[in-house]
This record gives sequence, C-alpha cells and structure tokens, in this order.
Amino acid sequence: MNLQITNKQLELLKQEAQRVYPVEACGLLFGKLTAESATVKRVVITPNTLQSNVSFEIDPKVFYDSFMEAKQEGLEFLGFFHSHPASTDPSSVDLRFMKLWGDAVWLILSLNDDKFAAFQLKNGRIQALRLRVEGKP
Ligand SMILES: [Zn+2]
Repeated sequence: MNLQITNKQLELLKQEAQRVYPVEACGLLFGKLTAESATVKRVVITPNTLQSNVSFEIDPKVFYDSFMEAKQEGLEFLGFFHSHPASTDPSSVDLRFMKLWGDAVWLILSLNDDKFAAFQLKNGRIQALRLRVEGKP
C-alpha cells in the first residue's frame, strides 16, 4: 500500500508540529482510496484537545465538520496525522486507537529526526506504508 502525498502537504504538517511543540500536533487526511494507494487531497490541521506531548485527541465536532465537508467534495477519510517528539514508531496508545479505527492510515512525523512514516493495521499487525512524495522539497 502506498500513501501519496505532496511535499507541500508534508511541509504544512511539519510547520504545525514545530509550532505546537512539545504538544503533539494532529490532523486529518482526506483523499482518494484504491486497493493499492491512498492519495491525500486535503490535510486538515486540528487542535490537540489533550494538549499532551504523548497523545492526541481531536474534537468530535471538528472531525465531523471536516468529514462532511470532504464528503461533499467526493473525498474519503483516509486517516490521521500526528507528531512524535520521539521516533515515528506507533506508541502503545496509537496501537490501541489503530485497533479502533480499522484500516485508517496513520501518518506520523518524528521531530527527533524530521522524518515522516505511515502505518496501517492489517490483520492485527502494524504495516508500514510506502510514502510517495510528489513535488520538490
Ligand atoms: Zn503517536
């Protein structure tokens, strides 16, 4: 499975993560989904209502509004973005929520080494997605 995203979108997420650091930044990813790839068409930055540096939570109203807006434009919900002060590895908290969210994509930015990684839970196991980045850095 590939996650297609543009450099511009990654840059936006990175800026937000640096802005709210040490709190975890979070956001929603919408776009097009096929069997082989998830293509990000829209990134929605959302406040972390927990204001925590180890976990994040998105206001259900913000989630709902973003979801409906994207749906009207024919975009599907792909998954979540959030940042880590440590590595990109999903935490135990992440894993718990991954189990709740089925095949949602989890895009994680490590502020440790400035790297993005994307994961998905498949048959109860964490799988890394291939990140396909379009556009110039
Ligand atoms: Zn996490």
